[in-house]
Amino acid sequence: MELDKMDENDWKYHGEGNKSLVVSHSQHSRVLRLLKYPAENAEYAHQTTEQAFRHIQNIVDFNKNVMRPLLGEKYVHHGEAVKLPLDFVRQLSLKVQQERPESRCDKVMDTFSGCAVCLPNLTHIISCHITEHRPSLCIEIKPKCGFLPFSRHVSKEVKRKVCRFCMHQHFKLANGKWKRMSRYCPLDLFSGNKQRMYIAIKHLLEEPQNNFRIFKNGQLIYSCKDDGDLNELIQQLKPYFFPSNGLINGHQSSKAVLNELIQMLDSLDIEGIYPLYKRVEQYLEEFPKERSRLQIDGPYNENFLEKVKNCPTEDDGSIEYAVGKVHQYRVAMTAKDCSVMITLAPCREEDRLEPDMEIQLSKPRFTYSVSILDLDPKPYENIPHQSKLDSKIVNYYLRSVQSKH
Ligand code: ATP
Ligand code: MG
Ligand code: MG
Repeated sequence: MELDKMDENDWKYHGEGNKSLVVSHSQHSRVLRLLKYPAENAEYAHQTTEQAFRHIQNIVDFNKNVMRPLLGEKYVHHGEAVKLPLDFVRQLSLKVQQERPESRCDKVMDTFSGCAVCLPNLTHIISCHITEHRPSLCIEIKPKCGFLPFSRHVSKEVKRKVCRFCMHQHFKLANGKWKRMSRYCPLDLFSGNKQRMYIAIKHLLEEPQNNFRIFKNGQLIYSCKDDGDLNELIQQLKPYFFPSNGLINGHQSSKAVLNELIQMLDSLDIEGIYPLYKRVEQYLEEFPKERSRLQIDGPYNENFLEKVKNCPTEDDGSIEYAVGKVHQYRVAMTAKDCSVMITLAPCREEDRLEPDMEIQLSKPRFTYSVSILDLDPKPYENIPHQSKLDSKIVNYYLRSVQSKH
């Protein structure tokens, strides 16, 4: 890709989340991930190009130096920070506008800095770090947190019994974020029990929200936009799974990765973290220069990972303990918000089988690649917001459950 010869006609809208918009190249297996900001908030537009580039570089560094060693080299593709011609970015923004879902249009794509992350297109099969062009089916899952908090700081009993995702559903429905309740429960997906995992995938299919998407040859064919039209999906999938005609194949290979994902760095829960955040805040007020030594806002390098890994297990009252726990919590927040992409392609004659793979001649064979994406660092400043949100969710859940009895 030659950055000085970019043509918006080579790129098309691919998808977006809350923070970024993604476009894919029509020939090369590449995507560009550009940041977005609130339409009414021109503040970001005033940041200098250097600041914007630093921000993008921070995301790449966090992926490369913190999340990749933790989640596995094979799965995390950190990409590279690029500076695109402003003309190209402006044209691109106009081109993609009509493709964007209305619900996401409260934010606009950054057309001021030209900064972006360039990544491999993970909806295509990747082998030996090379993406291949071949018929592919990609299943994207945003699993969210798969365990109940075990911290002694947890003050509400209900948090030990009902998972955060399920409680959050009640809150999101009440706030009009979604129209229908998702029956998906991350505890099922992470249970390791085949039947429960199957049910989790079934519930994701029923009501995908932003936790489930399917791409066929890099094109989105199933997401919350389609209002869960399962019949249409089954038509699309038939050629892949016929004659076995089941969807289960997709999640079997995911099991191993999902296990890899269980990090459990959030050992204190937000209720244990918030007081430590306040300890850090108080310390920084007294010693503002310490902010950079403690790496509160990065840089996200090996040193940062050391702080995450080597945090004392017991609270010795030190600032190092508080900062270590806050860093760990932020890494856990990133992991809880990531997506897992599982890409399948029918095996060709020349594809060799892995030695321990079972051969069932009656079933079609697939080769697969697995990646983990959307691993941005979560800002330190978000912790007070997380603390408030947590009590809102729990209190709302308790009230809505009580009113039903
Ligand atoms: P969230 O709101 O979940 O935090 P986000 O704004 O951080 O999302 P991403 O999740 O990184 O954005 O990207 C949005 C979507 O674009 C993803 O859900 C995925 O479908 C697609 N996408 C992102 N990166 C890639 C990639 N490297 N290859 C293919 N598709 C991608
Ligand atoms: Mg995402
Ligand atoms: Mg994200």
